[in-house]
Amino acid sequence: MRKLAAGNWKMNGLKADGIALAKDLAARAARDALGCELLVCPPATLLAPIAEALASSSIALGGQNCHGEPKGAHTGEISATMLKDAGCAYVILGHSERRAEQGESDAVVCAKIEAARGAGLSAILCVGETLAQRDAGQALDVVARQLEASLPKGLDPSEIAVAYEPVWAIGTGRTPTPLQIAEVHAHIRTCLGGLVRDPGNTRILYGGSVKPDNAQALMSVANVDGALVGGASLVAADFWAIAKACA
Ligand code: PEP
Repeated sequence: MRKLAAGNWKMNGLKADGIALAKDLAARAARDALGCELLVCPPATLLAPIAEALASSSIALGGQNCHGEPKGAHTGEISATMLKDAGCAYVILGHSERRAEQGESDAVVCAKIEAARGAGLSAILCVGETLAQRDAGQALDVVARQLEASLPKGLDPSEIAVAYEPVWAIGTGRTPTPLQIAEVHAHIRTCLGGLVRDPGNTRILYGGSVKPDNAQALMSVANVDGALVGGASLVAADFWAIAKACA
């Protein structure tokens, strides 16, 4: 299974710097073929120009969210079909920032994954516990519950990747220990057994303060099939170094 290095730009980037970042990554990818897949997920306003900047490169494009319905009266929303039409192959769903800020429930996330599937997009489902939940010894249960309630049954591995993103590790500079990551990723693999057709071939990414200096250690943990990267994906050299660690 090829690892995946995915960059979540979040609400960052205007046209000029987004295009420059994408072109920088495309130039690196043209010079130096990586052994892993590379994905960037810019804000929706940049999808079209970034799709153009990446047109002749191997770097994939993804959205950061989609609606559960294919079209209609949903002001301010974007559908999975629109993402596909803009050149996306992936969409990040259920990110903890959206769960917290937009109140997205597992049921809402499940509908979005169905919509992504209908549009032919691969969904990257984010799961992960808060610090209070980890301290209470509930990390494994929280992740299992999120998987069970967010994943439509019978998905193919190509339709889904799971990103384990402990909420307390996102943007904080803190990461779980390799042992803690190994424990949760093995648990996710087991849980996927009842939910996805071929769980051994479903990518399980780690996300939360992945940086060039910790990427090698994080990416060599068992059952870690890539990284979902926030802050460090906004700097081409840093994201590239992480991708190299994935590869
Ligand atoms: C994220 O929000 O998906 C993320 C992993 O952020 P950061 O790498 O900045 O912790």
